[in-house]
Amino acid sequence: MNQKSIFALLLMCTIVLPFACSPSGRDQQAGTDSQPDTFQYYVEQFADLQILRYQVPGFNELSLNQKKLVYYLSEAGKYGRDIIFDQNNRYNLTVRRTLENIVQTYQGDRSAEAFGKLMLYTKRVWFSNGIHHHYSSDKFMPEFSESDFRAFVAGSDPEGFPVPENTTLEQWENKIIPVLFDPSVFPKKVSQSSDQDIVLSSASNYYEGVTEKEVSDYYEKLRTPGDSQPISYGLNSKVIKVNGAICEKVWKSGGMYGAAIDKILFWLEKAATVAESDAQKALLEKLMAYYRTGDLKLFDEFNILWVKDTSAVDFVNGFTEVYGDPLGIKGSWESVINFKNVEATRRTSLISQNAQWFEDHSPIEDRFKKKEVKGVSAKVITAAQLGGDSYPSTAIGINLPNADWIRKDYGSKSVTIENITYAYDQVSAGSGLLDEFAVDEAEKELSRKWGSLAGNLHTDLHECLGHGSGQLLPGVSAEALKNYHSPLEEARADLFALYYLGDPRLVEIGLIPVQDVAWAEYSSYLRVGLITQLSRIEPGKDIQQAHMRCRKLISEWCLEKGTPEGIVEKVVKEGKTYVKIHDMQKLRALFGKLLNEIQRIKSTGDYEAGKALVENYGVKVDPVLHQEVLDRYARLNIAPYSGFINPVFKPVMENGEITDVLIEYPKDYIQQHLDYSREYSVLPDFN
Ligand code: ZN
Repeated sequence: MNQKSIFALLLMCTIVLPFACSPSGRDQQAGTDSQPDTFQYYVEQFADLQILRYQVPGFNELSLNQKKLVYYLSEAGKYGRDIIFDQNNRYNLTVRRTLENIVQTYQGDRSAEAFGKLMLYTKRVWFSNGIHHHYSSDKFMPEFSESDFRAFVAGSDPEGFPVPENTTLEQWENKIIPVLFDPSVFPKKVSQSSDQDIVLSSASNYYEGVTEKEVSDYYEKLRTPGDSQPISYGLNSKVIKVNGAICEKVWKSGGMYGAAIDKILFWLEKAATVAESDAQKALLEKLMAYYRTGDLKLFDEFNILWVKDTSAVDFVNGFTEVYGDPLGIKGSWESVINFKNVEATRRTSLISQNAQWFEDHSPIEDRFKKKEVKGVSAKVITAAQLGGDSYPSTAIGINLPNADWIRKDYGSKSVTIENITYAYDQVSAGSGLLDEFAVDEAEKELSRKWGSLAGNLHTDLHECLGHGSGQLLPGVSAEALKNYHSPLEEARADLFALYYLGDPRLVEIGLIPVQDVAWAEYSSYLRVGLITQLSRIEPGKDIQQAHMRCRKLISEWCLEKGTPEGIVEKVVKEGKTYVKIHDMQKLRALFGKLLNEIQRIKSTGDYEAGKALVENYGVKVDPVLHQEVLDRYARLNIAPYSGFINPVFKPVMENGEITDVLIEYPKDYIQQHLDYSREYSVLPDFN
């Protein structure tokens, strides 16, 4: 999965991350002794974007070889940046180089408003790896004028512009201006419009001079019907027409993007010398063979080796996700270097080891319980470097490879990137959100102290145990709940997590230091379910998304049952709505009761009861409360999309040997992009 806004991320991932998503075992493990985190996560905000930093806890504890491996793989990752720019649109590299020359050499008034607008536009181009919005894929327009642009060009170093041979500066300028300023030129990166040829109307650079039908026919012929191990034809090439014939320009050493790929190969070769095991060395060699030949069969073989590899340091490097192609064939280049978060993975293992105990003590009828339950042990990782399509904006989880047959026959890797979600969480904590929506100081205190750990554990319990618990009665179909299946299934997993978070057993086995962790999650869960998640709904709309319906259902149901009993209530202070929980233990009992009911619905396939629960509690939005929430959010001014500045790895050299690798955390977004463009840019303007 991919991208991008904090909100969208939380919604898209298969993992349920309650609003205050969070993590990193690092400073929560110490419990009450934990120091406040003074690292500066938030850097700046512009347009609809915010720039953050992330920490790489545990890097200094890696072995020297592991550090070298991270460093080499990171260098490889930076050389893919040009590739993703060019993939997104064939003018992107030339536009970026033009803007960077102005930013670096313009001699005119740099304090003028128009120059500020040029900086803003340049920052957006860096963020999106091109001239289209990274999320909506619409072209975004400069807020400076065409004549401003001509003045910027005239006032900058003429030698620094990417003017092609035999072209004057003026001719080149006239060519570039429509790309920047004409809204009808390259209006959308990925067209989904059903009344247009989506290949011709998409601005991404995966096809040139060919129609949707020609491309579809071309690949149809390559595929063998019934092939149980189909090759991902077209994943690593651009389709063009030469003398009327369709052909592919393959992205490989010596082919299209060859100059960048050779640099990637250079650093992968170094990485192979410090691989953690023979198995990891073998997979690196397979990846290099694929880059040298472009042979997609080798890419499949690489993925099979990669899925099996359990080294601590791991990576993504290659043409991977296909969201940038309207036909979903072409892989955009991306890279994520990471290593295992040992502490957090210990947490998920501990949960899995206790899976049978949890199942046996679940508050559901015995006939719905699994006699033998197996927990899923999810891996938790720490990202060390983001690259290509994963930079600056990244997903918070990785689930690869994409080839279905490899997933089926060999499995897949599904990981959570905890230091990234932790950074989101820290920024969210400083956004004023908690102050605005928590009912009192006690709730804020609970959330600040335990919110992160609580959010993680909720996710762990939901993923490792919740979905896998319980069983259907004989003869009941898994599809019996039809369109209500997803929200009910999410609710079942969430309730399992909520119920067990409050179980004293969690303290006994050392998963949490005190039960306050559970109560932090209880208050945040209801706050999101009843109030803050409404910020993601457009006025007048119902709740559609399964995770949101699930949260609303659980929260509304508990509110309705709990209010007459004095367990929980909605309070309004000075026109602002809050949730106040009076009795956590009794709320836990309500979670158990609803879990029992939803498990009954699932186990017996009771469609009508499931439908009633979802429709009565999970769908409808109170328009007055909705508007109130939207207004309160608007005043907080939180940018919907986030991206990151990467850390920098600095090798320490002695007698030509690397003796250590240091990590630094730069704070300058502009400087990082200028550095990358200066040091890691090897592709021609047009490819
Ligand atoms: Zn789920």
